[in-house]
Amino acid sequence: EMVEFNVFFNRIIDRFEMSKSQNVRFERQLPDEPYFVEVDPDKLTQVIDNIISNALKYSPEGGKVRFTVTVEDGFLLIRIKDQGMGIPKENVERIFDRFYRVDRARSREMGGTGLGLAISKEMINAHGGAIWAESEYGRGTTIFFTLPFELDDGGEWE
Ligand code: ATP
Ligand code: MG
Repeated sequence: EMVEFNVFFNRIIDRFEMSKSQNVRFERQLPDEPYFVEVDPDKLTQVIDNIISNALKYSPEGGKVRFTVTVEDGFLLIRIKDQGMGIPKENVERIFDRFYRVDRARSREMGGTGLGLAISKEMINAHGGAIWAESEYGRGTTIFFTLPFELDDGGEWE
């Protein structure tokens, strides 16, 4: 299915912004132009939901989550950056492994199964994109993912 990414992304962010209980501010930097992506919308929603719920889960009171969309090297690049506790450098790549969780103590406290990002990675790869993370321990985490896009909806979008 062809979806316009900014409309799609804004709708998901809105849903979290309306329902979140934490005192966390959302900041959006989305382009004005439409970008069309050929995706399974339910699966992409699941990916983005997990990234945002992780960002909220690990955000401090009064923190900020920033959503950015740009075009890099012919792909849409989506960034979701939080100011949470971060992930030690040696563990950053492992967060995309099945059942991997950074530390047992905080995982027990936070709930979840450790599958969210592994599933996200499978889905983004299946859509022809990539997903990765950068993190500074104690300062915050950014999740990046890319998606191939088209400037034209091929007549499918209304
Ligand atoms: P699930 O998503 O299945 O409910 P989960 O959130 O623990 O469980 P993932 O979403 O795969 O699993 O994340 C894996 C681990 O990576 C998390 O347990 C956490 O330790 C770490 N992590 C993920 N996102 C962040 C983040 N934004 N800040 C800090 N740590 C994170
Ligand atoms: Mg998760």
